Amino acid sequence: MSKPKVAIFDFACCEGCQLQIVNMEEEILDLLELVEPVEWREAMSDKSENYDIAIVEGAITRPEDEERLKKIRERAKVLIALGACATHGGINKLKNNFPEGEPERYVYGDAAGMPHLASGRVKAVDEVVPVDVKVFGCPIDNREFAAIVKSLVMGQKPFIPNYSVCVECKMKGNVCRYEYGEICLGPVIRAGCDARCPSKGAACYGCRGFVDDPNVNAAFDVMEKYGKTVEDLRSKLELFGSGQEYSDGKNG
Ligand code: SF4
Ligand code: SF4
Ligand code: SF4
Repeated sequence: MSKPKVAIFDFACCEGCQLQIVNMEEEILDLLELVEPVEWREAMSDKSENYDIAIVEGAITRPEDEERLKKIRERAKVLIALGACATHGGINKLKNNFPEGEPERYVYGDAAGMPHLASGRVKAVDEVVPVDVKVFGCPIDNREFAAIVKSLVMGQKPFIPNYSVCVECKMKGNVCRYEYGEICLGPVIRAGCDARCPSKGAACYGCRGFVDDPNVNAAFDVMEKYGKTVEDLRSKLELFGSGQEYSDGKNG
């Protein structure tokens, strides 16, 4: 039986999620037993319009990117959004908090009108085309990525946690960052990273995005308990939350 053909494409991003795949080293050999890469700019020179699985990294920022993405979607049976930029716009979406064109003028000054610069709104991949599977994180967790690809190849539904980072954090026996006077987004953020940041002594800043139906009001209660303000939480949510919907009775 022939292996499914896989192509990896990048849009506006740092390409750090692809790097996570490259960094898999020996485990990547297991994946190559299951799939055949046919296009992957970061790792090979071949190109192909014939693939089963398209892996798309990066946010969508220009009209020409939308057209390219639509063609990719037409050719692929399965489309995977790879990393926070693709799954919900990621850090790129901070740009949408400013008047259109202002970030480009701030960074590029008189050169802000260069034709390749986007002055439009940033979109996540699923704001342009349907997405079948999202691999969350900035960057992604390469073990989770490998497990998702293996599930897809075996015709199974990939396991994507829909509980909070706090669950994994508690299981690791970490002391809560709130006890250190920090603000941690773990209560409303999707698990799957093995509570990477709190386990290394840093608060969660929300790179995997919200769990479904995040209870932001409960997070506000935690803030109050530890003497923090709603504005403290809002500013922490801004880095990765700019592209995500949540309701706290004030913004929804
Ligand atoms: S999600 Fe983060 S690591 Fe991945 S491409 Fe975007 S900015 Fe880079
Ligand atoms: S450190 Fe963060 S993730 Fe861990 S329990 Fe506290 S709030 Fe939850
Ligand atoms: S702990 Fe939070 S910020 Fe850190 S990797 Fe996990 S989801 Fe991302």
